[in-house]
Order: sequence, then structure tokens, then C-alpha cells
Amino acid sequence: MSGGAGIRARSRVGVFGRHLWSRRWSADLETGVIGDDIRLARQDVRKEKVLSLNHSGRTVRFYVDGSRPRPFTVEFTFAPLDSTDSDSLRAALRQEENGVLGALAGNYSDTIGFLLLPAVHGATRYSCNCPVQPGPCRHVLAAAYIMVEWWDASPEVLFELRGLGADRLGAILRGTGDTAGMVEVDVEESLWGTEPLLPTIPAPSPAGLEDLLDAPVTRRMAAAATNDPLEQLRVVADLEDFLDAFGSYRPR
Ligand SMILES: [Zn+2]
Repeated sequence: MSGGAGIRARSRVGVFGRHLWSRRWSADLETGVIGDDIRLARQDVRKEKVLSLNHSGRTVRFYVDGSRPRPFTVEFTFAPLDSTDSDSLRAALRQEENGVLGALAGNYSDTIGFLLLPAVHGATRYSCNCPVQPGPCRHVLAAAYIMVEWWDASPEVLFELRGLGADRLGAILRGTGDTAGMVEVDVEESLWGTEPLLPTIPAPSPAGLEDLLDAPVTRRMAAAATNDPLEQLRVVADLEDFLDAFGSYRPR
């Protein structure tokens, strides 16, 4: 197919994504790509070959124009936020400059963005029905770039994509027929119930470098080190730097 007539990308050159966290996710996805597919996928996006984006719950489906008469189907499914991240999210939401409701409407800080962001390894599953498998193939990448721009434009969708849909978040609006009562709602209790799940503290006995580099695991280790979400992000970054250095170490 010749392409075109699909979703128009905002980014005309270079990387996609304008938030630190959305860029981070696509960069992580790109690390699994060999050959020329990153360049080709960016080209595909700018030629509007991603034809459609539909989402339902934690799944997002795309049709991507490729080498065959019928477009390929790319699907992403994201893991629900785990209890450690849920706990961090609850704490971070309380410190949001625009308040909890502002954050839920998508007006949130990078701290919330990183907490909601599904790790590429461990919390992101993807598939494409093209012959180039296992991916990520250029269709998965192209779809991912459009998704990143969607997240940037509508950050509130991250809540639903991580399983924090109406069933959990809707409780905030409970009993708010008149808006005056809204600010009086105990958000923490409404959102998480009176018996929130406590995070499990990991024993620091990593099975291997791959496990350590897996973001949920590093975040869990960070959660064991400090309760401050921003501080946790720094711990994760330090751990990753350390593991990068460690991974390239060769005994003489
Ligand atoms: Zn494909």
C-alpha cells in the first residue's frame, strides 16, 4: 500500500514524545530493535501509515499500513499498576500542584507520569500480525510513536491503561451530585479503600542483570530505600547507571 491518510504525527523530525516519561518509554522500546527499523518506522509515521488507534481498558489497537494489501494489526496491552507503584502513586497524587482531580484530568507532574508509565520490559505486551516476529517490528514501533503522542496530548489515559479505570478512580466522585462536596471527599480512602494493600519489601537477592534492569523490580528496590517518589526515581536512575557500568565490565 502507498500509505497516507492515517494519523498525522505532531513531531516532524527526530524523536517522538515531549514528556520525559513518554520519551523514556519509546526509547526503551527502541533498545530491542536491530537494523534500520527505527528509521523506517519514524518514516512510516510521518507518511501517516498508522491508520487508526482504538483503545479499550488496558489494550490499545492500531491498524498500520505495510507491505500487504490489508493493514497489519498491532496491539499493546499494559499490566495493571502493581501495589508498590499504587502506593507511591497515592502518595505522589497528594503532593500534586494541581490537586488530585487536576492530575486525574491529565494535568500532572513527571513524577506521576513515571509512576504510571508501563515498563517496556514487564508491563508492556505487544503483537503484530506481520511475518517479522518476534518484534518489535517497524509496525509496532510506528504504532508506539503515535501512542506516545497520544499520551502527551491526553495524559489522563495512562490511568485507564494501567487498570485505574472508573471502577477504582470513579469512587473519588462518589456522592458529588453537587460540586460543593467534591473537595471534602477523602480521596485516599475513596481511591484505595480503608485497607490499602501494603507494598511487599523485596529481599535484595537479584536473580540476574536482566531481572534487575526490569523497571518494576528496580522501582521495588527504590521503594525499599525511600518513600519519596522523586527520590525513588533517582534511585532507579542510579541503579540503572550502575548496572549499565557493571554490564560492560570485563575481568582481565
Ligand atoms: Zn509488524
